[in-house]
Amino acid sequence: MSERRVVIVGAGIAGAATAYFLAQRGQRVILLDRERTPGAHSTGRNAAILRTAIPEPALHALAADSRRFYASPPPGFSEIPLFESVGLYLGAAIEAAEDLRAWTARSDCSAGGSEVPPEQLYEAYPQLAHKLALTVHYPTEGAFDVNAILVGFLRGARAAGAEMRFGVEVLELAKRAERVVGVETSEGFVKADEVVIAGGGWAGRLPGAAGWPLGLTPKRRHLLVTAPLPELDPRSPVVWLAGDEFYFRPESGGLLLCACDQDAVEPEQGESLRDEVLERIAEKAARWLPGFDALEAAHYWAGMRTFADDSLFVVGPDPRAPGLHWVAGLGGHGITTGAAVGRLAAEWIAEGWSGHPCAQALLPRVPVSA
Ligand SMILES: Cc1cc2nc3c(=O)[nH]c(=O)nc-3n(C[C@H](O)[C@H](O)[C@H](O)COP(=O)(O)OP(=O)(O)OC[C@H]3O[C@@H](n4cnc5c(N)ncnc54)[C@H](O)[C@@H]3O)c2cc1C
Repeated sequence: MSERRVVIVGAGIAGAATAYFLAQRGQRVILLDRERTPGAHSTGRNAAILRTAIPEPALHALAADSRRFYASPPPGFSEIPLFESVGLYLGAAIEAAEDLRAWTARSDCSAGGSEVPPEQLYEAYPQLAHKLALTVHYPTEGAFDVNAILVGFLRGARAAGAEMRFGVEVLELAKRAERVVGVETSEGFVKADEVVIAGGGWAGRLPGAAGWPLGLTPKRRHLLVTAPLPELDPRSPVVWLAGDEFYFRPESGGLLLCACDQDAVEPEQGESLRDEVLERIAEKAARWLPGFDALEAAHYWAGMRTFADDSLFVVGPDPRAPGLHWVAGLGGHGITTGAAVGRLAAEWIAEGWSGHPCAQALLPRVPVSA
């Protein structure tokens, strides 16, 4: 094992996948999270949808790489499948059909998808309003088992020698002559040769890194799961309605619903609930799913999707601070792309370079004023 110590701040998908691929490369890894349970924030609060049709070439490429990993992970990674290919439909009413057609015709979004008559989707969801002008079907996309993925990364990292300390808050980056040399934590100083910020909604907040702003903004999004619906087939597909921005899929016997809200927030407010958004979900559900007699909320929550100003991920070494790396700003695609992001980050940290086609595009972009 390498003598170099890599400290990773954050045990969501970003930190866990990075720890996994670093440990596989024989790097000495210490993974820290302030929560006692890993994955307690965005990684444990998302919609778990596998959609590789992302209209941004770099992110699409990471999603496609990750899909290959999730489809056939290394032996021992998980006893159960990491996702179910229940299929995904993108749909639009007439007013949004042209935009959706332009999106799904892009080479990175057309792979694996084809335009089908809306009746095909109405058959899968007889309760859906017959208002669609365009329907594109991706039969091999679907829904993740996020817990199995996270556990696979953490277990694999630990088996390869990574150390994990949960319930430990990183308070500040420690620097000597501008080089990062470790972190101050709630349990004392932890020395490091490299520090990786994988703090999700808090990534832009860490004192010591705050002088190197990357423009990371958490945006809050609510999800609601209905009470069980006996008439719903639990293997029904994921549906995403463009224009009105509403998506749903089966979950826990009911439907998981999202109105695609995205309010920029401070991380402290990133998981607090807003009644008006829950009302918006109810309105969209009434508009699009009139065939369900009564949809009752069983539970709901909010979580953060964190974006850089240009909405591209931030993965790689910070040019302003030797020893500092970022794996942040994974927005709404962190699970879908997690395996490839972790592998890319590990390559930068272990080798100091990456030949991955997306590597340069995702390097920390230094704001002009910094
Ligand atoms: C409502 C919603 C729906 C989504 N749907 C999807 C989807 O369908 N498909 C998809 O691919 N993605 C989806 N996402 C996006 C995905 O969840 C995120 O991109 C991903 O989880 C981000 O992972 P992360 O590891 O960067 O952040 P997190 O999972 O939040 O992990 C960051 C960790 O850092 C820790 N931390 C922060 N600061 C410190 C500190 N100072 N000291 C110690 N620990 C610290 C936190 O405790 C936390 O555990 C969705 C997100 C939301 C909110």
